[in-house]
Amino acid sequence: MTPETVLQLIVMLRRAGVTDKRVLEAMEQVDRARFVPATFRDRAYEDVALPIGAGQTISQPSVVAQMSAALEVGPRDTVLEVGTGSGYHSAVLSKLARRVYTVDRHRSLTREAVATHQALGIPNVTVMTADGSLGWPQQAPFDRILVTAASEDPPGPLLAQLGENGIMVVPVGVSGPVQTLVKVRRTASGFDYDDLGDVRFVPLVQGIEPDVRSGRPGQ
Ligand code: SAH
Repeated sequence: MTPETVLQLIVMLRRAGVTDKRVLEAMEQVDRARFVPATFRDRAYEDVALPIGAGQTISQPSVVAQMSAALEVGPRDTVLEVGTGSGYHSAVLSKLARRVYTVDRHRSLTREAVATHQALGIPNVTVMTADGSLGWPQQAPFDRILVTAASEDPPGPLLAQLGENGIMVVPVGVSGPVQTLVKVRRTASGFDYDDLGDVRFVPLVQGIEPDVRSGRPGQ
């Protein structure tokens, strides 16, 4: 990526209303083109979702920015992402957090994401192929949980794996094409919910996708 394109992406995000300095700096460090199939690479710096295979998409940069800002990730935080997809959002989070765990039900996607993270020298992201609606119990509790696929309600196992004062950002509602982005905060006595506006995500689907071409797990 040439410096111009990084700047184009950041200028575009600022125009879209993104003000969080740490998020903008993190996104400046991650070349979105590396996470996009070659046929769409010329559109990598546009504010659009793009196909990444397996019927899935890499999210719009402005949505990645909005969700990352809403998560309020600190440098000592451990983050769980459900829905690795291309691995782009976890790469952005890796610049904000201490450690990122990310899980996807498509082995073909986790394999590709691991390869991209390795090629970029990102050391603090761990990828797993599994049903992420169950969370990652071995690594819980998490300071932050990001869900990048839509579900009817915030999944119970994820709420259970959110540490005290933890924040989860999750698209909620699967009856139509548009969902509400919800920010959940765990308090000493329960959960607080805030609506952050409309978003469009692929649905959270139960179970692991059978992948006949796969050799071994994502990691
Ligand atoms: N964050 C991604 C984009 C996510 S697209 C990026 O940066 O590119 C949503 C992803 O959620 C898809 O890859 C889909 O396979 C995954 N997904 C859907 N249901 C899932 C589940 N139950 N567990 C884990 N991943 C799931």
